[in-house]
Amino acid sequence: MSHSQEIKNKTHDIKFDVKEVGRVKAVREFIVLAENMPSCVNGQIVEFDAGLRGIVMGFTQDEVQILMLGPKARIRAGDKVYSKAKSLYLPVGDGFVGRVVNALCEPVDGQGEIKIDDMFPVFKDAPGIMDRDTVERTLESGTRIIDAIMPLALGQRQLLVGDRQTGKSSVTTDAIINQKGKDVICIYCVIGKTYSGLLKTIELFKEHNVFEYTLIVSGIASTSVGEQYLAPYTTAMLGEYFMRQGKDILVIFDDLTRHAWIYRQISLLLKRAPGREAYPGDIFYIHSQLMERAGQMSKALGGGSMTFLPIVETLQGDVTGFIPTNLVSMTDGQIYFSSALFNKGFRPAIDVGLSVSRIGNRAQWPAVKGPSRSLRLEFLQYKELVAMTQLRTTELSKEAEKKLRRGEAITELLIQDKNKPVSMEHQVVDMYALNREVLDELSVEQIRKFKLDFYEKIKEWFPNLPKQLRDTKIIVDESIANLEEAIYYYFNQEPKT
Ligand code: ATP
Ligand code: MG
Repeated sequence: MSHSQEIKNKTHDIKFDVKEVGRVKAVREFIVLAENMPSCVNGQIVEFDAGLRGIVMGFTQDEVQILMLGPKARIRAGDKVYSKAKSLYLPVGDGFVGRVVNALCEPVDGQGEIKIDDMFPVFKDAPGIMDRDTVERTLESGTRIIDAIMPLALGQRQLLVGDRQTGKSSVTTDAIINQKGKDVICIYCVIGKTYSGLLKTIELFKEHNVFEYTLIVSGIASTSVGEQYLAPYTTAMLGEYFMRQGKDILVIFDDLTRHAWIYRQISLLLKRAPGREAYPGDIFYIHSQLMERAGQMSKALGGGSMTFLPIVETLQGDVTGFIPTNLVSMTDGQIYFSSALFNKGFRPAIDVGLSVSRIGNRAQWPAVKGPSRSLRLEFLQYKELVAMTQLRTTELSKEAEKKLRRGEAITELLIQDKNKPVSMEHQVVDMYALNREVLDELSVEQIRKFKLDFYEKIKEWFPNLPKQLRDTKIIVDESIANLEEAIYYYFNQEPKT
């Protein structure tokens, strides 16, 4: 049985019989206008003779507006439209992990069919307050600056916002790479991006073996408008399937700017009145409905979670654009990427001053809570000091010089290559050293070396330390003694073995 046949059979099991047969009145690009379908409702699925599907997007007095799902159709005026009075359900299953699928859950990776375990509704109401719990478990992003200064929690929605080419996607793929062995299922949803970009991501994922726990939903630019519109909802649906099993899911939407463009395009074809920046008025509603689907489920519902990291693009750093401000208001915080920082070589180019998380450090490992508490402040003070010293010619006070040196050490510690996520254990060890002020006297070169070497030495000298850190998430007295000894050895003389 072919894949689509299997889907169709499964779909038939849960669908009601045909309720209405309408008639195509006109086709306007990817929108079909149909008549004689008086009982249609929004979000409902319809079918055409060719086996194509569409989704009801709206009405006029005597027309139903249908968005085509799938490739450009050869549908003509006069064709039949079958309504089954059912909203859109798509296949889900454990077999989706490791695969690349389109927004209709059909495999596009040439790896054969995917076993279907169930059918889920694509558009689903978000869980209510009673079904939720507070977010308090760490999501380890593997990016030092995030984990230290704006830590993430499982079930949180954190927006990544910034201009083009500022490293937004890289931070999210790093977060996926960093989930290896952490029992988190990752879903990377691509919307409106190029095929070659998708191929690069697939290559990266293969290289780091992340397909063991990751799947990609592709709504790339060459797919139909309907599929690009659907992609984030399909992604949320697949996430919900795993979340219901009590699992933790990390979802990336790359990116929602493209999704907003697609929705604007659809709305203009539907002749809806354009509002701010020509977006339709309900763009806020459709994005907030999506964002609500993230969260930490209650114990009664299995205790799973779904974390959303949506990406949104800005133009020349302007966060006051319509789509970015909307998304800022419906997420738990934002990570702001700056092209100025990127060009200065501070990468990941995250602006600490403009980034916030309303979750705070609730979910942070206690082992880094202490050291990182002052980090944000120290770093921002340093930035101010640098700006000031650029204006003045007078000599600096001893104290100011000390602050500058420390700021430089912090800066150097937070710089990180892409595709090289740093484990929490490693970060704890480095933060301990930073807090002991042993990095402040080092040159940039020495700090770079320290970032790579010191943790390797720790693993060699005190092999139990990393495990102790992961097990307890705090630094016990014995570990402090180990760390002190390691710092001494590292800067003085290695122990005899
Ligand atoms: P776009 O707007 O095109 O989606 P983006 O903001 O998602 O871009 P990326 O694609 O992640 O940015 O990165 C842009 C460029 O910067 C890439 O060439 C990438 O290799 C480089 N880059 C990203 N992060 C780092 C980093 N931490 N260190 C060095 N180079 C980086
Ligand atoms: Mg990108």
